[in-house]
Amino acid sequence: MKDYLIRVVDSSKKIRGFFINSTQAVREMERIHSPAAPSSAAMGRLLTQSFLMGAMLNNDTDSLTIKMDGGGPIGTMIAVSNNKGEAKVYASNPMADSDSYPNGKLNVKGVVGTEGNITVISDLGLKEPYIGVSPIISGEIGEDFAYYYMSSEQIPSAVALGVLVDIDLSIRAAGGYLIQLLPGVDESTLEKIEESIKAADSISSLIDKGMSPEEIAKFVLKDFEIEILDKKEIIYKCSCSRENVLRMIKSLGPDEIKSMIEEDGGAEVLCHFCNMAYIFGEEELNKLI
Ligand SMILES: [Zn+2]
Repeated sequence: MKDYLIRVVDSSKKIRGFFINSTQAVREMERIHSPAAPSSAAMGRLLTQSFLMGAMLNNDTDSLTIKMDGGGPIGTMIAVSNNKGEAKVYASNPMADSDSYPNGKLNVKGVVGTEGNITVISDLGLKEPYIGVSPIISGEIGEDFAYYYMSSEQIPSAVALGVLVDIDLSIRAAGGYLIQLLPGVDESTLEKIEESIKAADSISSLIDKGMSPEEIAKFVLKDFEIEILDKKEIIYKCSCSRENVLRMIKSLGPDEIKSMIEEDGGAEVLCHFCNMAYIFGEEELNKLI
């Protein structure tokens, strides 16, 4: 079954939610990057979050880049998404590993670190992109984004992101949700939601049990009347192309290109998001100069 994301709202229009099964997309991430287990969970969680945030963009040409740099061994993680259900992720050191917690759970914080920031760059086709920054407070990613929404957008939010990594490092299940309270909502609503979140299993085990995003939405928001507004397929997709890479090389300027020709007789560019290698010969590079 293909991955998808749903958008829901409650009957009072004061609670909105996004629920996603991202298992296949995280499997594709694992196939491309072959990360160590906690890094796989970290990259899968960030990828899942970037689908959720991408779904909030209004236009087809908008794009969103999330940078997470917590000072941990995984280095910088970057995820890029849009509102067409496409996202991709990259980490500077996907081999970063750390010992699991005593209860057996993967120690995501141990690879992400807690000394740094989340930076969200929204390119909405305006002159300047909109940039939001907030500190990484937990390193487990879900809580960091809940804090991001509160501190940079003043929207109380619950964020759950989960990736179940098997012993053989394959991905058993992945998914998440984002619930936001719009202005005018009372305190008791937030408490009710928090209680049912606490009572529920982790998001990755709900998905592992076979629950659909619709079922998870009804379960977590069981005290409310909810309506499903939208359902969208999602996919791990990199939009890199030969033309884009050529344009990037051209932007380096003639001197840099000349030295590529002299020193290497050409250029090889590897896309960090999908591992595609682009090879350019002398003749092609000469045309750029
Ligand atoms: Zn690519």
